Formats: sequence, structure tokens, C-alpha cells
Amino acid sequence: MAEEIPVMRSLADLPKYVIRTMGDPMDCFVEECAEAIKEAMKCKRFPPGHPTHEAWTTAGNPSPRTLLVQEIGDVLAAIDVLVNRGLMTDMEIRTAKYAKLQKMAEQFGHGAVFGDLYAKPTDPDWVNRTQTSGL
Ligand SMILES: [Mg+2]
Repeated sequence: MAEEIPVMRSLADLPKYVIRTMGDPMDCFVEECAEAIKEAMKCKRFPPGHPTHEAWTTAGNPSPRTLLVQEIGDVLAAIDVLVNRGLMTDMEIRTAKYAKLQKMAEQFGHGAVFGDLYAKPTDPDWVNRTQTSGL
């Protein structure tokens, strides 16, 4: 006799909501990064002002930007879990972050990295940033 296939009726039926354990926090981090990537690509595919953006949002979907912000929040929360579980420290992350900011500023200019804090709208770095973000 064939095995009965359970029917999912709501989100509460999904194993990750029923089991109530996080599992490996690194897996959670990777999953959230993937979700952020997915939403970033949606921002590129459905940018404001483009017909696809209007079709996407009028179909009842939250704006791609809203979804991206939510997923970035999820990534930051997953990072907090990695820290809280002792897999890394805030100081290590901050050190790596500032090293990357410095490297990007050297590569792309301060305006591209720090945006409105240092750049003016006529700064080519600033213009390039706003034209390529899809936001
Ligand atoms: Mg998420």
C-alpha cells in the first residue's frame, strides 16, 4: 500500500515550525544568506519604475525592497546567533567589516562605500551606486 502523503495546510505544518529546534546555526546563517541573495535578485529583476515592478506589486506581493530588508534582518539575526553560540565574536566581525570597508573604499572610492555621508549626487561613485542597486 502506498504511503499517505501529508497535506500541508498552513505554515505551522512545516517541519521547521513544528520541530521547534534551530538545528545547526551555521545552516541557518547559510539559509538566510541564500534568501537575501534571492531577494536582491528580485530587486534587480523588478526595479521600481519598471513594468515588472508594478506587475509584481499589484499581484499582492510586498515590494522587492521590503523583502530584501526583511531578509537582511534575518541574516543579521543569524549572525547574532553565531556570536551568541560562541562560534565567533562581535570584535572579529567588526574587524573584518572595517577591513572590507577600507578595501572597498580604496578600490571604488569613498563615495561608493559611504554614500551620502561623504559623496555628493554629482560624485560618479554615488551616481554609479544608485544606478546599479535596482532600488
Ligand atoms: Mg529569511
